[in-house]
Formats: sequence, C-alpha cells, structure tokens
Amino acid sequence: MDKEGASRQMASVSTTQTLSRAAFLRGLRRARPTALRPPWALLEDDFRLACTRCDTCLEACPESVIQRGDDGLPQLAFDNGECTFCGDCVAACEDGALSYERGRPWRARAAIGTGCLALDGVVCRLCEEACEPRAIRFRTLLSKAPIPALDESACTGCGACVAACPVTAIEVTERTEA
Ligand code: SF4
Ligand code: SF4
Ligand code: SF4
Repeated sequence: MDKEGASRQMASVSTTQTLSRAAFLRGLRRARPTALRPPWALLEDDFRLACTRCDTCLEACPESVIQRGDDGLPQLAFDNGECTFCGDCVAACEDGALSYERGRPWRARAAIGTGCLALDGVVCRLCEEACEPRAIRFRTLLSKAPIPALDESACTGCGACVAACPVTAIEVTERTEA
C-alpha cells in the first residue's frame, strides 16, 4: 500500500473508532439505571447513605411493588400492581431512608413511549381505564385510533398504568428536584 492509501486507511480507522466510541457512550447513557426509589425516599445520595439494604420495606409493602435492585437497594417495579401510598414502607424503615420529612412522596410521573399500540393505529385504552386520577385522556383524531395524552399535573406516579399496558410502553420515573 502506498503512503496515501495507508493514510486514508488510518483516517478511516480513526473515524470508525470515534463513531464506535460515540455509540458506546450513547449506549452507556441509555443503559444507566433509572431506579425509582420507594415513596418518601430521601434524595438519591442521602438515600444511598441511609439505606442499610435490610429489605424491610420490601416485606412491608402489601402491593409487592418494591423489589431489590442489582445494587441491593430497593426500587419500584409496577409489573404486577401499583403504589397506593399507604405508607407501610415508611413505617417499616427504621433507618430514616424513607421519611415523611421529604414532604410529598416523590416527583415521579408516567411517560408514554413510542411503543404504545395506539400510536400504531390499534384501539387500546387500557391505561386510561387503570388511571384513577384521570391523568391519561385520549384524543380522537379523524379516521385514526385515539391516542393517549398524559396530564403530568394530575399524575401521581402510582404506576397503575404500567401494570395495565400490554406492551410495557409506559415508564414511571422520578423528575429532577427543582
Ligand atoms: S406506600 Fe405502600 S404500596 Fe407504596 S411502595 Fe410503600 S408500602 Fe408499597
Ligand atoms: S395501555 Fe399501553 S398500548 Fe394501550 S394505549 Fe395505553 S400506553 Fe398505549
Ligand atoms: S402513574 Fe398513576 S396517575 Fe400517573 S398516569 Fe399512570 S395510572 Fe395515572
């Protein structure tokens, strides 16, 4: 290979490496866990320090919506139910990691993703039916299936819609503290 060809090849390898690195970093950002802590949890850094990973809140939850994460810390999983904000997990936590001093239970809100069947023209309103605060309403479009819209101010982050959605298109995540 002549000098020019070698130089072109090196530039191509370098570009490929740059793209691979960008894709890798994008993947890392997407893969970063966004665990939702139990309601009334301290802010994340304080929570990590205070929680002793004792599993007491998991055992106390009558809805079985708290599970142990890979890091041993409790996190919410709405696969089979919703949080009723009964407070049993807070009462069970003796380490102060869950505390009413936080004020509101959380800033968690639902978000409807692009996997929603209605966006593909399928008539499905299961999330609306599951949502007691009526934070999910459907807009009817001419000759199309109605599509859902979320009213964040009405959403409590209870997760009832997550359990109801047949294609796991809904996620509940904590919003950033103001
Ligand atoms: S408030 Fe009640 S339902 Fe919600 S996570 Fe705690 S124990 Fe479970
Ligand atoms: S239940 Fe899921 S698939 Fe059905 S309309 Fe709601 S978000 Fe879409
Ligand atoms: S998280 Fe609860 S309140 Fe919010 S949209 Fe879903 S069902 Fe409704």
